Amino acid sequence: MIPCTRVWPCARTRHWLRTFAVLFNRCCLAGRVIVTHSEAHTAMGIACGIVGLPNVGKSTLFNALTSNNIEAANYPFCTIDPNVGIVNVPDPRLNELSVGYQTERTVPTTVEFVDIAGLVEGAAKGEGLGNQFLSHIRAVDAIAHVVRCFGDDNVVHVSGSVNPIRDIDIIETELVLKDLDSATKRMETVTKKARSQDKEAKDELEMLQRLQAHLNEGKTARSFHCNNDVELEQMKALFLLTAKPQMYICNTDEAGVKNGNPLIDAVRARAAAEGALVVPICAKIEAEIAQLDQADREVFLADLGMEEPGLDRVIREAYSLLGLITYLTAGVKEVRAWTVKKNSTAPQAAGVIHSDFERGFIRAEVMKYDDWKRLGSEQAVKDAGLYRTEGKEYIVHDGDIMHFRFNV
Ligand code: GDP
Repeated sequence: MIPCTRVWPCARTRHWLRTFAVLFNRCCLAGRVIVTHSEAHTAMGIACGIVGLPNVGKSTLFNALTSNNIEAANYPFCTIDPNVGIVNVPDPRLNELSVGYQTERTVPTTVEFVDIAGLVEGAAKGEGLGNQFLSHIRAVDAIAHVVRCFGDDNVVHVSGSVNPIRDIDIIETELVLKDLDSATKRMETVTKKARSQDKEAKDELEMLQRLQAHLNEGKTARSFHCNNDVELEQMKALFLLTAKPQMYICNTDEAGVKNGNPLIDAVRARAAAEGALVVPICAKIEAEIAQLDQADREVFLADLGMEEPGLDRVIREAYSLLGLITYLTAGVKEVRAWTVKKNSTAPQAAGVIHSDFERGFIRAEVMKYDDWKRLGSEQAVKDAGLYRTEGKEYIVHDGDIMHFRFNV
């Protein structure tokens, strides 16, 4: 098992650190900043890491993502580590609900991004700032791989020319090499146990040998086939870098975003073979858009022929890549989006608001956002018999508008 890095706390540790910090902050800043208990839960300590070669536009993208988002005061760790950003998840449903309920306050949910710089050829062997950054990747839950698809003579390419597939291969090779290291280390431990005829160790060793051969061919852990759930758990325990879900962000120019280009097509073909998603953006323009106020932004976007900033799609896709969904709560006081992992039960979803809600869960009253939108009001949904009462087993869906009944 690979120990959790000390430089960069693991997701669970970060969650508790942040929860503590937010509560601490709440005490210190009482009267200055409104921080509700639930805000400790909105970012669940589940993060998407932005990786790529130097000079592909990672920081430009990260800065655009975080430039007008969450108040750092609410999340002290943002101020401690400038590479971590908590970003609002754009959700047009919130605006509709806010108008419908004439609400006093609207609160979006959030997702966490980490700018992971410094990954270069040879990183797995410690080149550049090598291992340190690889351990940062280990601490995130999904990867947004930025590839350079823009030509600009003023911006030096580390390999001398723009070639996104070569760049992807360089990064992937480093990550696969590191995984190979992890698998080999684990094999050394398991081999000793297997010698003493430990059946579980023998089975794990057999899986590790297959995994080693697979990685040795330059393939990622993502495409490795586990024969059963035990193998899957054993592989998960290795925390392999190339097992993390990944999407590609093609950093291109304005024309590339509008019409595509052969570089983006090449990345798309590669991604299709891996079942990964591609989001083309122009980080430079996104950074400019992010600086504008709402009115100017709409004019600028219209000029560019864009319906929404490319960043909005990056955020939504990252959120989905992390296996997260949104449920909503709606009332006159507050309309709010909440994050849960896919396949969460109603009590687990209630627990995101407050642990008492989970502990004392009685039932949930649920309507679908689409029904509310189509029929126009909560009363109309009730009249149509579509406002349901659900129990502890209910699996929450994206877009559920929930009201919890609990007793503690
Ligand atoms: P990083 O090393 O991957 O974090 O790259 P940076 O975000 O620091 O960008 C490196 C350089 O490329 C900077 O000078 C940026 O202004 C420039 N850059 C980033 N995105 C774009 C883009 O979409 N188009 C152009 N022409 N330049 C960009």
